Amino acid sequence: MQLNIPYHLENFIGGNFIGPLSGNFIDNINPATGAVYGQIPDSNAKDIDLTVKAAKKAFPAWSVLPVEKKFIILNKIAELIEENSDELALAETNDNGKPLWLSKQVDIPRASSNFRFFATGIMHVANESHNMEDRAVNYTLRQPLGIVGCISPWNLPLYLFTWKIAPALAAGNCVIAKPSEVTPVTAFLLGKICKEAGLPDGVLNIVHGIGQHCGEAIVKHPDIKAISFTGSTKAGERIASIAAPMFKKLSLELGGKNPNIIFNDCNWERMLPETIRSSFGNQGQICLCGSRLLIERPAYEAFKKHFIPIVQKLKNGDPLLETSKQGAIVSQVHFEKVMNCIALAKEEGGKILCGGNAVKLEGRCADGYFIEPTIIEGLDQNCRTNQEEIFGPVITIQPFDTEEEALQLANNSTYGLAATIWTQDISRANRMASKVETGIVWVNCWLVRDLRTPFGGMKNSGVGREGGWEALRFFTEAKNVCIQF
Ligand code: NAD
Repeated sequence: MQLNIPYHLENFIGGNFIGPLSGNFIDNINPATGAVYGQIPDSNAKDIDLTVKAAKKAFPAWSVLPVEKKFIILNKIAELIEENSDELALAETNDNGKPLWLSKQVDIPRASSNFRFFATGIMHVANESHNMEDRAVNYTLRQPLGIVGCISPWNLPLYLFTWKIAPALAAGNCVIAKPSEVTPVTAFLLGKICKEAGLPDGVLNIVHGIGQHCGEAIVKHPDIKAISFTGSTKAGERIASIAAPMFKKLSLELGGKNPNIIFNDCNWERMLPETIRSSFGNQGQICLCGSRLLIERPAYEAFKKHFIPIVQKLKNGDPLLETSKQGAIVSQVHFEKVMNCIALAKEEGGKILCGGNAVKLEGRCADGYFIEPTIIEGLDQNCRTNQEEIFGPVITIQPFDTEEEALQLANNSTYGLAATIWTQDISRANRMASKVETGIVWVNCWLVRDLRTPFGGMKNSGVGREGGWEALRFFTEAKNVCIQF
């Protein structure tokens, strides 16, 4: 199939590609070049009304379509994502600034896996039955909610968009989905793929626009029964304040300030490259990136000696080049935010061990938004740099003396998304894992993902879990039926 990208993107509503009712568009910028290279609909509540009508029309047939038939369509979407992976990867890189090799290796394959995983998953759902000896039996129906809203961020655009949409569709819902206005193109292309795969009109609707207008209109619409949101804690708070009094189901996957706890006894050969990845992968713009490195004191100086030279070799470059280790920051606004965070860290007394500067490239990327991978030391856990999410290629390092101190530093955060623990002492690993206040813990690895496991954060990192049965449960309503003998 041909995945042409028009200059003006359109919404995908009821199986048709249509412009915003207002006629207003917003610029789409390639962060590696700083150039406007397209426009996207500036949709509002009127577009959402239209979308809800289309979804309502589609729901009765989709909700009762046998799972074998749902499987065929959702699996076909996975296949088409795979078949068009080169074009999708290029679109993702042009929109987001991440290296093309990363889009090819991670983002697009994972988007395909998301559809395949939930396409097959829905075929294996077994609902509970509770037997009351010789008196009665209960069985639990898990029925689709109806129309649900899925709102996703810019850091892993198609990857996270499909992570929500696939289970919502598999569970029998019709979906109104909004990608980030900063990275809309692969979401637009997904509409074309779904059409080609034979997804009935109105089952998935994709609308574009900014959070405060388009996103909030989804959250506020009374006929949208649940909101699955991934993004900042600030926007999550706003969404919860609207949706909670409407008694909507809410899944919130929010920000993080993740600790990497490194003990001297760890396997250094594995720890060093994985810590590079967990610190600076996707320019540090992964919610799971470890941004606070806590290092056992006897290992502290050796860690700096080995780690800093590797980081200094992570050169920023044109994301289209295979040799570029680091791409662009996603937008000018975010670039400025990250640069301000580095300035704040200096004001707070932080010492920049490497990086700390914007990077000016030559040629095509001369006006792009690039920042050197940055390591900062000498900051207290209570300062803003160690408390607030930066979401860029910036980490801090701090020494600790005991397990208790490591835990105290790790848990001294309003966030609780993920933690990474490096040690060869299995008892210590288990002790730490049970006490660290995060929804996800990796021991001697990072970002090893099994799609069946619960995914989500504690504290200000969110409410609810995605992944596996958790996602299918979220997108269904449990109804118990009790039959007396
Ligand atoms: P963001 O909150 O600005 O936007 C996310 C999405 O929400 C976008 O589509 C945006 O248009 C929309 N939105 C914004 N305000 C809204 C509102 N009031 N109502 C409805 N929709 C609204 O986040 P971002 O800058 O796109 O993404 C970065 C953030 O996402 C970081 O904080 C990062 O940690 C977080 N994140 C979390 C996870 C996770 O799984 N926990 C994964 C990826 C990113």
